[in-house]
Amino acid sequence: MITLTDIHKSYKTGASQLHVLKGINLTIAKGEMVAVMGSSGSGKSTLLNIIGLLDSYDAGRYQFNGKLLKNMNETRAARFRNHNIGFVFQSFHLIPFKTALENVALPLYYRNVNRKKRHQIALDFLGKFGIADWANHLPAELSGGQKQRTAIARAMIANPSILLADEPTGALDSRTSQDVMEVFKQVNAQGTTIVVITHEKDIAAMTHRIVHIKDGTMDNVV
Ligand code: ADP
Ligand code: MG
Repeated sequence: MITLTDIHKSYKTGASQLHVLKGINLTIAKGEMVAVMGSSGSGKSTLLNIIGLLDSYDAGRYQFNGKLLKNMNETRAARFRNHNIGFVFQSFHLIPFKTALENVALPLYYRNVNRKKRHQIALDFLGKFGIADWANHLPAELSGGQKQRTAIARAMIANPSILLADEPTGALDSRTSQDVMEVFKQVNAQGTTIVVITHEKDIAAMTHRIVHIKDGTMDNVV
């Protein structure tokens, strides 16, 4: 589904350049659940942002279902994301003044689904992720686990083929982290490919495959 070939990425910081990704090779098959590990600053988020078209790469090839993704303008990248890619972040990224239901329904607004219909579908998704009772609560009234379930429901309502999660359990206690990982496994069992960044071994162990970024390259020899 995803093939990265010799991907390079540098950031300019003033006069100097920081070469973060130095030739990443990674293939992710449809239906896989892959954990990306690596020390802080090793380029995990950079890599995930490139896969999610939130950031560009300098050299190499990124193929998504055989299609080369390169030099997309922001409009095309946004459209591609909306139809193919879901995101989940450590800090949830929920809109604070909208209820759980409204947060989950938001992607459907951008697809011109009418209000009644999108709220029906959003309630259904909240139910799937075990938080229907919290539909009318604001994010501040939810526990960390409930917030992350809301964020996962919001990502999944757009029916993405791949879900990208950047340290989704980084702000959760270990018990809640396990629960949230069970939610990801449930999503994966329904056919969605998942890439999850984590620095916790027991979280990574709940996936099919672990790859490590070190010194800008990847050790995913399989
Ligand atoms: P990780 O997620 O593994 O902790 P990141 O991918 O966030 O690492 O960052 C890798 C390196 O690139 C870090 O040294 C970070 O400071 C740097 N970096 C990340 N984003 C930017 C940016 N937009 N501009 C400049 N440097 C950046
Ligand atoms: Mg990061």
